[in-house]
Amino acid sequence: MLDFSHEHPPFHRYLRPPMSVVAEGAPRSRILDPAAIERKLALNTYNVDPTRAHIRIIDHDVCLQCERQQCINCCPANCYVPADDGRVVFSYEGCVECGTCRIVCHVYDNIEWTYPRGGFGIQYQHG
Ligand code: SF4
Ligand code: SF4
Repeated sequence: MLDFSHEHPPFHRYLRPPMSVVAEGAPRSRILDPAAIERKLALNTYNVDPTRAHIRIIDHDVCLQCERQQCINCCPANCYVPADDGRVVFSYEGCVECGTCRIVCHVYDNIEWTYPRGGFGIQYQHG
């Protein structure tokens, strides 16, 4: 008999709560050395596929309704940046293929996500 008593809690339990429900004065996580991320990303090499974006925003107008635009906050490679008109500009060239954007866009399901073709994409220094 399989034992499911150690099942993980629902996925949304892992997400950071919206700032409106974080108690005032509660400690907040912060990145102690933002430049460290940049230094680590610089160790990777990218073989960018110029003919095919492996990720794309399906409908840029949908992003206007997206209150939190978490893709901007959560992408470790800064592939999503806010546009002046409230939409989001996406570039796939520096993508580390972590899949975070696909998850955080779960409300609108507005990201088409695939891996790059074989031979393209990120190459991690340590495999
Ligand atoms: S999370 Fe999805 S819907 Fe929201 S801004 Fe990003 S791509 Fe658009
Ligand atoms: S898969 Fe990761 S690195 Fe690539 S665009 Fe999405 S969040 Fe950014």
